[in-house]
Amino acid sequence: MARVHNFNPGPSALPLAALERARDELLDFNGTGMSIMEQSHRGPVYDAVHEEARGLVRDLLEVPDSHDVLFLQGGATAQFALVPMNLRPIGQSADYVTTGVWGQKALKEAKHSGLAREAATTIQDGKFFRVPDSSEIDRDPQAAYLHFCSNNTVMGTQFAEFPESPGVPLICDMSSDIMARPVDVSKFAMIYAGAQKNLGPSGVTLVILRKDLIESGRKDIPFIFQYRTQAEARSLANTVPTFGVYMLRNVLAWLKSQGGVQAIHEVNLKKAAQLYSVLEERSDLYQLAVEPESRSFMNVVWNLGSQEADLACVARATEAGLVGLKGHKIVGGLRASIFNAVAPQSVNALCEFLRDYRP
Ligand code: PMP
Repeated sequence: MARVHNFNPGPSALPLAALERARDELLDFNGTGMSIMEQSHRGPVYDAVHEEARGLVRDLLEVPDSHDVLFLQGGATAQFALVPMNLRPIGQSADYVTTGVWGQKALKEAKHSGLAREAATTIQDGKFFRVPDSSEIDRDPQAAYLHFCSNNTVMGTQFAEFPESPGVPLICDMSSDIMARPVDVSKFAMIYAGAQKNLGPSGVTLVILRKDLIESGRKDIPFIFQYRTQAEARSLANTVPTFGVYMLRNVLAWLKSQGGVQAIHEVNLKKAAQLYSVLEERSDLYQLAVEPESRSFMNVVWNLGSQEADLACVARATEAGLVGLKGHKIVGGLRASIFNAVAPQSVNALCEFLRDYRP
């Protein structure tokens, strides 16, 4: 078996231990004579996995009792619609900080169903090279909430410090850096994340949401789209993606065995520092467009000055077993997504390749 060094932006590399566990348990889960996928989502066997997964989320992120943990479907994209549907009362506006394409999509969806305002943006000639300072945000004190995206997967920018949001509930799309650094969940009204980067396979969306907001959320929308429906049913109002939650359990159990979020954060910072320093060392060849204070430690984006040169570098890297480095079409260049499950050895291999690369 030859596994590649996987730098895919999502779906992304999964911890080998989580995959091996799935392999070992696939045909006969815990002596039940069937896989976890073949169990009833309402039976005790799956239920234990479901609760273990929820418990691991609570444990690893120290989620306070004031917040509920849900596993939903439709990706982070569905949350772009469900957040305003549930949490923005009729006639009230919501504030959005847009620092990349996902934030733009969230704002577009919010405007589609009601009042929403761009409280800050860092767009410059159609591109984003930084995240704003908290002082740049033009807040509406009456806003239903303030929404932002903590890590811009496409642009390679990340908030080193989260925006302050005094008096207004703070909501974060944390799809591409959840569980990558410690977070004070109590400061957030809501955190959501598609699983396919740091949590597991695609198909599950993690939602961490203040219980009082679940209760006060709108009731005039379809039942199945109300957070309260899923909260009351422990996310089992419909058939939950059982295999996705099972894999999320495996990934989070692995993360716990690695020492948890604080420990992986230290590893993540080292991986990113190593990669940025190689790119800076060879500034004759590689250009980093993102402003240094806004650089992401999850998605490292750079270019070689022309599309031709970028693609040639991607092709040679692929031949060398370094996969998934082509930048997003909006930004071009190269992007290394170095999520929690991307081992330091993979980053070492990439650094070695980039140091020695001759066009
Ligand atoms: N937000 C961010 C920050 C993302 O990176 C992505 C996907 N790459 C999304 C939202 C959309 O996620 P999904 O495809 O799960 O809807």
